Amino acid sequence: MTRTRSAPVGTAAIDRRRAKITAEIAALGPPLPGSLVARQTRCGNPGCRCHADPPQLHGPYLSWTRKVANKTVTRTLTQDQADQLQPLLDNARRLRELITELEALALHHVEHNPALPQP
Ligand SMILES: [Zn+2]
Repeated sequence: MTRTRSAPVGTAAIDRRRAKITAEIAALGPPLPGSLVARQTRCGNPGCRCHADPPQLHGPYLSWTRKVANKTVTRTLTQDQADQLQPLLDNARRLRELITELEALALHHVEHNPALPQP
């Protein structure tokens, strides 16, 4: 990446940070959208242990939820399936963090460059 001598102070540091972020994104595994949820529930049987005092709830039931065309889609998972998907979901969360940081760097760049329109 080339820079001019008149670049604003801090540009080199920002460029280095951006290069680190893009390298981490390139090395990231598949980013699976959605999240894992573990729910414990009560059933409809009043004599069941889930209505006792203290209650022993059913579950936890694991599910993977994600948005598809603005609707929440839920898949019930076994523990083994959840264990397999968790690292992919973690990748997606890390990707979102890195994108947020890239956006913050871009905002900083614009705010410190008088030639650009100010947000
Ligand atoms: Zn019950």
